[in-house]
Amino acid sequence: MKVVKIGGGCLTESETIGKILQMVAQRGPGSIFVLSALNGITDTLIDGMKRALAREDNIPQLISHLRDKHLQVARHLISNYRDYEEFARDLDQSLSELERYYYGLNFTREITPRLRDVISSYGERFAVQLFAKGLNCQGADTIYCMPEKIGLSTDGKFGDATANLRKTSKNLQLHLTSLLDRGKIVLVPGFFGVSEQGDITTFGRGGSDYSAAVVAVAMQAQLLEIWKDVDGFMSADPKFVPEAQLIPVLSYEEAAELSYFGAKILHPRTVEPLRKSKLKISIKNTVNPDEPGSLITARSPRPKYIIKSVAHDTDISIIKVHASAVGARPGILVQVAGQLTERDINIKSVVTSQTCISLLLAREDLEAGYLALKHLRPRPFRRLEKVDDVALVGIVGEGLAQRKGIAARCFEAVAGCGVNVEMISFGPSRVALYFLIKNKDLHSAVNAIHSTFFSVPRCN
Ligand code: ASP
Ligand code: MG
Repeated sequence: MKVVKIGGGCLTESETIGKILQMVAQRGPGSIFVLSALNGITDTLIDGMKRALAREDNIPQLISHLRDKHLQVARHLISNYRDYEEFARDLDQSLSELERYYYGLNFTREITPRLRDVISSYGERFAVQLFAKGLNCQGADTIYCMPEKIGLSTDGKFGDATANLRKTSKNLQLHLTSLLDRGKIVLVPGFFGVSEQGDITTFGRGGSDYSAAVVAVAMQAQLLEIWKDVDGFMSADPKFVPEAQLIPVLSYEEAAELSYFGAKILHPRTVEPLRKSKLKISIKNTVNPDEPGSLITARSPRPKYIIKSVAHDTDISIIKVHASAVGARPGILVQVAGQLTERDINIKSVVTSQTCISLLLAREDLEAGYLALKHLRPRPFRRLEKVDDVALVGIVGEGLAQRKGIAARCFEAVAGCGVNVEMISFGPSRVALYFLIKNKDLHSAVNAIHSTFFSVPRCN
């Protein structure tokens, strides 16, 4: 039995969704499909909360926009009128629940974490309703199962929940095994589960991959397939490096590192539930489903030069907190990190020395993060500095920390094209080395490193 996750990035135009539906009908009987919301719907739902809070009048407009979007796709997928009508009725029922939540938040003047999670779960709910109708009207015996009904159980942390694997396994096997044995196609919405207290809790943005991993482990599937709009992990971003190659096999660790920075192919937490069972993940392109794609396994072969990918991330900025004897002053890190966490600002990474703490943030958080720290009292630092013209480069490969000369080779390539390295982080991960350079140097540096590890050295 396998579990297949279908990403929101490929659920775009009606034609594309129609083709994916065909694939599910052909390959699906006896498998579980974990669906994302249609492309852009989760953003609309989340954005809608602010709009609903600002003006009650915005709510009907928002609901009718969501209705139109889904009905437009439904018209394409559901050929027979009666089924289409039935879908429209189901959709209206879900929309009227959603509408009540929006009015609720307008009335109480507050977007609570509980409400935020419930509202953002609706995109996935609509998607499974739509797919189930579309498949059934083609004669593919399909059923959808909502996480709260089948007991996909979480620890209750809103916006960043973790699944309770033991409970989820017991519940899912109880509810789904006989459906699969009867050859049904089973659809489960991704992105959320239900807490002990009965609250809908999401796994964080992009969390459907993680849901799919949880379902796969819980059901002891043989394989987890992730259907995407790309072939798989690449040795570099092909928009940047034309010679970039597909990586046929990666380890869990390599995939997780590459998912934090660089290629956003998988949610970084996806491999977390799989470690014990050593279940494999196969990335498939919905446009070329018979291509091999990338396979992610517990262990993976090491290429001659160890490095599998040169990743980069331009969504990086730094706040430098200058203070003396950082390492000898208890509590300074907690104070600084606490101030940012209180304002919901995520710290992507931290690099420290005795005189400076460098906090890596997303660009959009730089200003707010800077202000938050500026007003910290008593002031634990001498000076604050903002840096926003940098980009992060990382090389990733199992064995990187044990093999001599890899870092030297990488920095030789960077220096060879006259690029200065601003900051290095090496050691925390066994499989990755990260460093920062000026934004303007990114293209030359990534190409130079890629050439060093993958072909004839060159500089451009
Ligand atoms: N729909 C959710 C999001 O956009 C979850 C997912 O797509 O994985 O974050
Ligand atoms: Mg999505």
